Amino acid sequence: MGKRILIDAKNVLDEILDIIYEPDDTCPICSQPFMQKEYLCPNCINEIKYCIEACFPIEDKKYFVHSLSYFSGITQRLIINLKYRNDLNAGRFLARLLYLKFKDLFNEIDFLIPAPCTEKSFQNRGYNQAYVICKEIEKISGIKTLDILKKSNTSKDQIGLSKEKRWLNLEKAIEIKSKKTKLSSKIAMLIDDVFTTGATSYHCAETLVKEGIERVIILTVAKGSI
Ligand SMILES: [Zn+2]
Repeated sequence: MGKRILIDAKNVLDEILDIIYEPDDTCPICSQPFMQKEYLCPNCINEIKYCIEACFPIEDKKYFVHSLSYFSGITQRLIINLKYRNDLNAGRFLARLLYLKFKDLFNEIDFLIPAPCTEKSFQNRGYNQAYVICKEIEKISGIKTLDILKKSNTSKDQIGLSKEKRWLNLEKAIEIKSKKTKLSSKIAMLIDDVFTTGATSYHCAETLVKEGIERVIILTVAKGSI
């Protein structure tokens, strides 16, 4: 029953994501009126601070992470709008920026895979923000989104644990939920909103590699401070 509701919610979300984006003439960040057909006004777009590092490694250089920006300023506000204010257009705008900035990386990959959120977050928010970003990139690039990972609710178990134990705890939380597509010898791009400790990204990548994926590239909108 619960599963059925989630599947229906996902189909509805897919339809919402297909609705043609109608931009408002007021910037959602600074509230200034503007004429351009973009989500943000030119001033706010110019204030986005792009990540200086081309990419950075996690866990003994096993995986590399690319981030568009830092979790601060305009980028932080866009992510908050996407995650907590149901502003899916913020996600679509970030997706387009990701695509423009990392076009070469997208040429290398076979699938987009959204980092999973817990079922509880999904029910509270109504969508997975990483899935929203993936679907917009899919629309622009034609690269398929495979929503195949799931994350069990570990937040309660994480309280009071050391960084090492939290890292290990997440290993058990990430699983494959669907094996319909052949994954062997494919290159996947794991997409998430914010990179912080790297634990979720690392365990998602490990889970995908165990399923036969040849290589996982991790791409996040923002790099947070650890
Ligand atoms: Zn603005």
